[in-house]
Amino acid sequence: MKRQQNMNEELLIPRSLLNPVAPIGVGTPEVESMVSYFCRLALSHCISATKLGHTVERGMQWRLPDGWRWHAINLSGMSDTAHDWVCALSKLTSVENLASLTLLPWRDVIAEQGARATSAQWCPHCLADDRAAGATPYFRLSWDVGVVSACSKHKTRLVHACPDCGRANTRHNSIYVVPGWCTSCGGFLGAGDSEPATSAEIWIAGQLGATLSVQYSLTSRPSLAALLDGIRELVQRLDDGKSAKFARRIGLPKTNVHYWLSEGGTPRLSALLRIASQTGLTLPQLLAGNPTDWPDAYANIHDLDSLFPEVKKRAPRKVHDWDRIRAQLAALNDSSAVVVSVSEAARSLDVGVRQLYVHANEEARVLALRWNQHRQQLSAESRKKTRKIIERIYPEVAAKGKTLNLREIIAHVSKEDLSGLTGVYDILQEYTGNA
Ligand SMILES: [Zn+2]
Ligand SMILES: [Zn+2]
Repeated sequence: MKRQQNMNEELLIPRSLLNPVAPIGVGTPEVESMVSYFCRLALSHCISATKLGHTVERGMQWRLPDGWRWHAINLSGMSDTAHDWVCALSKLTSVENLASLTLLPWRDVIAEQGARATSAQWCPHCLADDRAAGATPYFRLSWDVGVVSACSKHKTRLVHACPDCGRANTRHNSIYVVPGWCTSCGGFLGAGDSEPATSAEIWIAGQLGATLSVQYSLTSRPSLAALLDGIRELVQRLDDGKSAKFARRIGLPKTNVHYWLSEGGTPRLSALLRIASQTGLTLPQLLAGNPTDWPDAYANIHDLDSLFPEVKKRAPRKVHDWDRIRAQLAALNDSSAVVVSVSEAARSLDVGVRQLYVHANEEARVLALRWNQHRQQLSAESRKKTRKIIERIYPEVAAKGKTLNLREIIAHVSKEDLSGLTGVYDILQEYTGNA
């Protein structure tokens, strides 16, 4: 009976319902993230990411919750949800090993807590390099890892805000995403600059890069038992089996080490990096938990303060000169000044957005109003431009007997025009009725 049911299921789910889009950078530190893959897969079908989600839902006979938003799930992570989506996409695209675009291979040895980046970040130089090489810009998996704040290739900090509109969370927070272009203003996310990273930040990014590059070729899933045995071995070799001494060495409370070694708890990524940094092991070596391969000599690679500065030292409370800040805000509100957002102004004045509203409420509100008007104007202009482009393309496409869809639009416009398109779906709908 069960077998019959499975066979029916197999018949109902057409293989290769989705295009077999090849993932980018597999087996390298620059491996693509599942978030990026999902967006590119949707683009390859000329549908929005949301619509792709519902196509998968139908193909797998799932029932997604009402109001389901594709970008609210962490596709690149190590949760059960990420696992389900990876299995579904592998099945429907016939592309194997899509788990290597996520942190799933490490789910038994790295705690889920703290493994996810808290906001969408990226290296503008990586995106600019993709574009300059004529390749497809894509998001790297390492950018979605919680402890990573730098690009080990460019040795610069990752950024969170669009260089054009200054908004955060516009990397993929939309139903329709072209990786590399802001979902809010359409600006190229690789256009901005970024600060140099510290050597500790680069080291962390390098360790994660090395880890992500081996996950494709793992012959078996790393096990927690082997990892904990490895840590036990380190405690023995370095601190005569005294876990409290080992805890001091890695700068964590001894309860943490006790939790792993006595209760079988899974260490967090930051704790694993602490161990690697104080033993000279690489993160992939440590995770593999195979002490026979480990070197005899141990090295302190980075001092812990520089690796995790926020844990040791809280930044001293800043004292702000509010008279001066209010004057600067007033200058920004001058009609001749370039319009900026409140968050951008807060950033440039080195204060929090909330503080601005508390201590310079009137100025901040005027600024917010100006910014909204400015954005509405830009958006109207951009929609006008989009409509013009579609009006220009439509007769050409119709003359060839083709339907106007995103694929045709992409084929007919320059990359620069493409990045500036706004409201394509709504306008297409007017033309075709089923965008
Ligand atoms: Zn980079
Ligand atoms: Zn933007």
